[in-house]
Amino acid sequence: MHEMSLAESALQIIEDAAINQGFTRVRTVWLEIGKLSCVEKDAMSFCFDAVIKDTVADGARLEILETAGQGRCARCGHEMQINTLYEACLQCGSYGMQVVAGDAMRVKELEVE
Ligand SMILES: [Zn+2]
Repeated sequence: MHEMSLAESALQIIEDAAINQGFTRVRTVWLEIGKLSCVEKDAMSFCFDAVIKDTVADGARLEILETAGQGRCARCGHEMQINTLYEACLQCGSYGMQVVAGDAMRVKELEVE
Protein backbone atom coordinates (compact mmCIF):
# COMPACT_ATOMS: atom_id res chain seq x y z
CA MET A 1 0.00 0.00 0.00
CA HIS A 2 1.87 3.08 -1.18
CA GLU A 3 -0.71 5.44 0.33
CA MET A 4 1.13 5.19 3.65
CA SER A 5 4.40 6.53 2.24
CA LEU A 6 2.50 9.22 0.33
CA ALA A 7 0.72 10.24 3.52
CA GLU A 8 4.08 10.42 5.28
CA SER A 9 5.58 12.62 2.57
CA ALA A 10 2.51 14.88 2.68
CA LEU A 11 3.00 15.20 6.43
CA GLN A 12 6.67 16.02 5.87
CA ILE A 13 5.66 18.88 3.55
CA ILE A 14 3.17 20.14 6.14
CA GLU A 15 5.72 20.01 8.96
CA ASP A 16 8.29 21.87 6.84
CA ALA A 17 5.67 24.51 6.07
CA ALA A 18 4.85 24.80 9.78
CA ILE A 19 8.49 25.55 10.54
CA ASN A 20 8.91 27.99 7.64
CA GLN A 21 5.61 29.81 8.14
CA GLY A 22 5.39 29.52 11.91
CA PHE A 23 1.95 28.01 12.35
CA THR A 24 1.21 25.48 15.06
CA ARG A 25 -2.10 24.03 14.02
CA VAL A 26 -3.52 22.76 10.73
CA ARG A 27 -7.27 22.68 10.27
CA THR A 28 -7.66 21.53 6.70
CA VAL A 29 -5.36 19.98 4.17
CA TRP A 30 -6.13 19.98 0.46
CA LEU A 31 -4.35 17.20 -1.34
CA GLU A 32 -4.28 17.11 -5.09
CA ILE A 33 -4.03 13.60 -6.46
CA GLY A 34 -3.66 12.75 -10.11
CA LYS A 35 -6.08 10.19 -11.52
CA LEU A 36 -3.14 8.20 -12.87
CA SER A 37 -1.37 7.92 -9.53
CA CYS A 38 -3.35 4.82 -8.50
CA VAL A 39 -4.08 6.31 -5.10
CA GLU A 40 -7.16 5.00 -3.34
CA LYS A 41 -8.97 7.94 -1.79
CA ASP A 42 -10.29 5.93 1.16
CA ALA A 43 -6.90 4.36 1.84
CA MET A 44 -5.30 7.78 1.61
CA SER A 45 -7.70 9.26 4.18
CA PHE A 46 -7.11 6.33 6.48
CA CYS A 47 -3.32 6.57 6.25
CA PHE A 48 -3.37 10.33 6.60
CA ASP A 49 -5.41 10.11 9.80
CA ALA A 50 -2.90 7.60 11.12
CA VAL A 51 0.27 9.60 10.40
CA ILE A 52 -0.98 12.99 11.65
CA LYS A 53 -1.51 11.77 15.22
CA ASP A 54 0.47 13.93 17.68
CA THR A 55 1.78 16.19 14.93
CA VAL A 56 1.02 19.78 13.96
CA ALA A 57 -1.72 18.39 11.72
CA ASP A 58 -3.42 16.27 14.39
CA GLY A 59 -7.17 16.33 13.83
CA ALA A 60 -6.92 18.13 10.50
CA ARG A 61 -9.58 17.53 7.89
CA LEU A 62 -8.38 16.04 4.62
CA GLU A 63 -9.87 17.20 1.33
CA ILE A 64 -8.82 15.21 -1.70
CA LEU A 65 -9.01 16.81 -5.12
CA GLU A 66 -8.59 14.59 -8.13
CA THR A 67 -6.86 16.02 -11.15
CA ALA A 68 -7.29 14.65 -14.64
CA GLY A 69 -4.59 12.64 -16.31
CA GLN A 70 -2.88 13.90 -19.43
CA GLY A 71 -1.25 11.52 -21.86
CA ARG A 72 0.72 11.71 -25.05
CA CYS A 73 0.52 9.10 -27.79
CA ALA A 74 3.86 7.39 -28.25
CA ARG A 75 3.15 6.95 -31.97
CA CYS A 76 1.70 10.21 -33.26
CA GLY A 77 2.34 12.58 -30.37
CA HIS A 78 -1.32 13.50 -29.90
CA GLU A 79 -2.05 14.75 -26.38
CA MET A 80 -5.34 14.04 -24.67
CA GLN A 81 -7.01 13.68 -21.32
CA ILE A 82 -6.91 10.12 -20.06
CA ASN A 83 -8.23 8.23 -17.06
CA THR A 84 -6.01 5.20 -17.47
CA LEU A 85 -2.88 4.40 -19.43
CA TYR A 86 -4.79 1.80 -21.41
CA GLU A 87 -6.79 4.12 -23.58
CA ALA A 88 -6.46 4.22 -27.34
CA CYS A 89 -5.28 7.39 -29.00
CA LEU A 90 -8.20 9.39 -30.37
CA GLN A 91 -6.19 10.42 -33.39
CA CYS A 92 -4.43 7.27 -34.59
CA GLY A 93 -6.10 4.57 -32.48
CA SER A 94 -2.92 3.05 -31.18
CA TYR A 95 -2.26 2.09 -27.60
CA GLY A 96 0.77 3.23 -25.67
CA MET A 97 0.00 6.44 -23.85
CA GLN A 98 2.82 8.15 -22.03
CA VAL A 99 1.97 10.14 -18.95
CA VAL A 100 2.38 13.90 -19.29
CA ALA A 101 0.56 14.88 -16.09
CA GLY A 102 -1.76 13.45 -13.47
CA ASP A 103 0.39 10.80 -11.86
CA ALA A 104 1.54 12.79 -8.87
CA MET A 105 0.32 13.98 -5.52
CA ARG A 106 0.86 17.38 -4.00
CA VAL A 107 -0.26 19.42 -1.04
CA LYS A 108 -2.28 22.16 -2.69
CA GLU A 109 -3.34 24.27 0.21
CA LEU A 110 -3.38 24.37 4.01
CA GLU A 111 -5.78 26.08 6.32
CA VAL A 112 -3.79 26.89 9.44
CA GLU A 113 -4.06 28.69 12.74
ZN1 LIG B 1 -1.80 8.57 -31.70
